[in-house]
Amino acid sequence: MNLVLLGPPGAGKGTQAKRLVDKYNLVHLASGDILRAQRAASTDLGRQVAGYMDAGELVPDELVTQVILDRIKDVISCQQAGGFLLDGFPRTVTQSQDLDSALEEARSRIDAVLDLCTDRELTISRLTGRRSCPACGAVYHLSSIAPKVAETCDRCGGKLVHRSDDTEQVVQQRLEVYQQQTAPLEQYYQQRGLLRQIDGNLDIDQVSRQIEQVLVELAGT
Ligand code: AMP
Repeated sequence: MNLVLLGPPGAGKGTQAKRLVDKYNLVHLASGDILRAQRAASTDLGRQVAGYMDAGELVPDELVTQVILDRIKDVISCQQAGGFLLDGFPRTVTQSQDLDSALEEARSRIDAVLDLCTDRELTISRLTGRRSCPACGAVYHLSSIAPKVAETCDRCGGKLVHRSDDTEQVVQQRLEVYQQQTAPLEQYYQQRGLLRQIDGNLDIDQVSRQIEQVLVELAGT
């Protein structure tokens, strides 16, 4: 099963992705994580994308698409997992078209696009309060999922960070960019009969249950 998680920054894509990959043995391909890893390793690509990411802008399609498509092709050719889960990609109609062409070539396809629809104010509060652990990837929130010891990861003891693009000013910019460049994908996938809308304003378990229901329905069709 191959899935796409759609939704604005702060919709809870990363949280739901972790649950889905464990349950369905999917490979999690999170474009933001992949780009942050390139930055941490100071690769050429990492240096090229840094300015866009810090400003809350999308990285140009030509820098991001091939990296993700190569990972997808690896997953398809290895056939070890139960499929892949895309989180943060595609983010433009051009990326979706390139994804469709690559999948067609590899005789694969997307089974569903899970669209986490979430109110703007809620996403702002989720992101500005978010703290993450660069060492193990755990995510916290200062009010709802606070770490036991301030600024320290419960799981691995790493020092938690506030992502540079999670400040209120950059979050506002990321939401604008989402509306202009990524929201049109809802129509793109609706027209292809793949879009499944989920209420992302609910709590984590309720969102998981809605997703579960969609996937059960999907399995029955
Ligand atoms: P995320 O962790 O998914 O919120 O992504 C963080 C940042 O990485 C975004 O604000 C963009 O600058 C960049 N990025 C991640 N995925 C993409 C993509 N599919 N297309 C363009 N830029 C991306």
